[in-house]
Amino acid sequence: MAPIVQKYGGTSVGSVERIQAVAQRVRKTCKSGNGVVVVVSAMGKTTDSLVKLAKDISPNPSRREMDMLLSTGEQVSIALLSMALQELGQPAISMTGAQVGIVTEAEYSRARILRIETDRIKQQLNQGKVVVVAGFQGITSRENLEITTLGRGGSDTSAVALAAALEADRCEIYTDVPGILTTDPRLVPDARLMSAITCDEMLELASLGAKVLHPRAVEIARNYGVPLVVLSSWTEDPGTKVTSATPTPRPLEGLELIHPVDAVEYDRDQAKVALLRVPDRPGVAARLFGEIGHQELNVDLIIQSIHEGNTNDIAFTVGKNCLVRAEAVAAAIAPTLRTHPESAPEEAEVMVDREIAKVSIAGAGMIGRPGVAAKMFSALAEARINILMISTSEVKVSCVVNAEDCDRAIAILCQTFEVSSSPVEGNAVGIYTAADPQAPPVRGVALDTNQARIAIRHIPDRPGMAAKLFSLLAEKNISVDMIIQSQRCRILNGIPTRDIAFTIALSDAPDARKVLTPVAAEWGFGEILVDEAIAKVSIVGAGMVNQPGVAAQMFDALAKEQINILSVATSEIKVSCVVEQSEGSKALQAIHAAFNLAEISSVEVTA
Ligand code: ADP
Ligand code: ASP
Ligand code: MG
Repeated sequence: MAPIVQKYGGTSVGSVERIQAVAQRVRKTCKSGNGVVVVVSAMGKTTDSLVKLAKDISPNPSRREMDMLLSTGEQVSIALLSMALQELGQPAISMTGAQVGIVTEAEYSRARILRIETDRIKQQLNQGKVVVVAGFQGITSRENLEITTLGRGGSDTSAVALAAALEADRCEIYTDVPGILTTDPRLVPDARLMSAITCDEMLELASLGAKVLHPRAVEIARNYGVPLVVLSSWTEDPGTKVTSATPTPRPLEGLELIHPVDAVEYDRDQAKVALLRVPDRPGVAARLFGEIGHQELNVDLIIQSIHEGNTNDIAFTVGKNCLVRAEAVAAAIAPTLRTHPESAPEEAEVMVDREIAKVSIAGAGMIGRPGVAAKMFSALAEARINILMISTSEVKVSCVVNAEDCDRAIAILCQTFEVSSSPVEGNAVGIYTAADPQAPPVRGVALDTNQARIAIRHIPDRPGMAAKLFSLLAEKNISVDMIIQSQRCRILNGIPTRDIAFTIALSDAPDARKVLTPVAAEWGFGEILVDEAIAKVSIVGAGMVNQPGVAAQMFDALAKEQINILSVATSEIKVSCVVEQSEGSKALQAIHAAFNLAEISSVEVTA
């Protein structure tokens, strides 16, 4: 019988009693006849304490020594859990990542798994033992023997990778919540448990701040079709299934280093509407998209760039057949968006562009690999194709380009990423199938307060600038999200320029500033603004594809709380807004309530 992989997180093995409870649960699974491989994290907050210890010795410790240090946390838990199992009369053996042969690339603190040797584990399973494996760690190779770690939260990745390599029956992630909820229950106590969610939705939620599962673990589950479930280590409840379509078979060699892009997609049936110089105050996006939603017009991408003075630009795309009505809505609203004639003397201006197309690269392998988007921008730049809008999600980067460039863009992208066809014409309904057809359009909401927003003013508007900028950041391993180009074009010294803003992890902000400052002058960029006091709130759901009014409902919820939206970016299955950090929790709660995601109270159920 295929083994079961169970993973227990820090809180689940946080004390002697907890370890004993885990041992009981593992023993019970063994009794049902399954071979069990257990992956554990370090006990409680051990990893945080080790990080602090290192910082007390050295402000900037070497990454190699950090991995040496942090990997010890998991080694404690595997030994203790093995002992607890043996105490129950259950044969068990603990193994470090090196002992198993979890072979990773030679990148300390963020290594990706290349392959997992399964012989030793299988031998032990055949002898009737539970194998307890240290999560979060690996080894560079049998010759090199360097200890690596996979990055914080990496035990989830170890568990799912082991399940893929062992062709396990399923991978169970035990944690301190009953499963995957509509949002973090620490921030919204009435968050509701979901019985199932798709890998695509979970990938977005995980990378937008829902730390219940690591996005890399979801990526592996999606690529190898690992049956995955998240559940409480305290109860017997069934938890949440993370579902995936049957994937095309792929080799286990290079496990986490697979081909990053699976497909190039395109959509010629799009048109762009931009509203320039709308006042930078709460309620504007809600009004515009509320009206668009009333007209049942389905918006695809929405982008709101960083403000200039006290006004913003908002741009969106719609199907070509909706353009006339969308333009009429925008044109009707524009004159009313002028509350302070002295400070914003010009009224909002509507611009439409019917001759556009969207080209996208798609694939789960691009997660956490900043170089992939940069490579797309470079390929387009080399073909002298100007990018009009950019939209990013975890598994897709889309660029809006001039319609006349569409064919060339497809050809160059297929060549660059070695994909021979571009299978999807039209929108993404087919790709994002909801786990449950009855599911509401928004499945979950997430808050990420560990983000910074960088804006660069006055970047010359010609092909290649985005490529240069994001290649440089990719070289420094800085992942970028929510890339937004301003719609407004400023002529400076005869050169048309636009602003580009993007969000990155807060911890990368100092590095980003350091690498960008020296090149800014050389490349003719203007001022670099770094805002660390931001939060990103997002809604995620496969059902929002082709469902008008979803974004409007989110903007409306924020407007009712008088929360100003600093930037907006969307992909097919998510809408993210940047707001001030101090308003993050309030924003999350408002959105959660607006989409009726709360647990239905027992009173309502019986009523
Ligand atoms: P573990 O130590 O078991 O890996 P983590 O702390 O990494 O646990 O992840 C579990 C935590 O994730 C929960 O305690 C919860 O606060 C947080 N969380 C954030 N978003 C969600 C969500 N949508 N559903 C469930 N938990 C969430
Ligand atoms: N112990 C590691 C951490 O705290 C890995 C994990 O728990 O998944 O990040
Ligand atoms: Mg975790």
